[in-house]
Amino acid sequence: MAKAMPYQVLVRDLPTHRRFEVPPAQVAEWLKGLPMRDALGAPEDDPEAGQGVAELDLYADGAHAFASGTFHGELTVACSRCIIPVKLAIDEKLRVTFMPRHEIAGEDDDEPARDADADDGPEVAEDDLDVFPFDGERIDLEPLFREQFVLAVPFAPLCAETCKGLCPQCGIDRNTASCSCTPPIDPRLAALKGLKIPS
Ligand SMILES: [Zn+2]
Ligand SMILES: [Zn+2]
Repeated sequence: MAKAMPYQVLVRDLPTHRRFEVPPAQVAEWLKGLPMRDALGAPEDDPEAGQGVAELDLYADGAHAFASGTFHGELTVACSRCIIPVKLAIDEKLRVTFMPRHEIAGEDDDEPARDADADDGPEVAEDDLDVFPFDGERIDLEPLFREQFVLAVPFAPLCAETCKGLCPQCGIDRNTASCSCTPPIDPRLAALKGLKIPS
């Protein structure tokens, strides 16, 4: 990357509108260690890892800073059944608050408890309100961007709902080929095979 801190904005430059690009090598690094990424066996700087573009309005108000805008991108993970690459789209509206670490840590003590189902609160539902730490001088957007990719990965990604997966015996892709393997019988079940189960 050209700049050392590509996702930081100085508070003295606010308010501002910025566009940020997240290149494939960065996406690959952020998602390293994720089973559904590692399963692809892609190179470190995988050019197919994905990418992202953020368009953000950034502004400050006292000790807090805010970012709102959009994040669009895509990333590639392995299908959890057949491990072919699956491209996932990211299309998010962002609305994020940056606040001093001590305020985040002390949130529960300082603020009166808000009724969970009160609907006359702020116009932004609390679920949408992401909070990130802020040192008062620079806004670090890296954790926010990273989160977009990490949260975009489902627990078990699928190339298609109907994916038949790999044969557990011979490893053939059952979507494109077939084999004549028969599932091995659990020896404990085999012992029961001759038994009639009363219904
Ligand atoms: Zn699949
Ligand atoms: Zn097979």
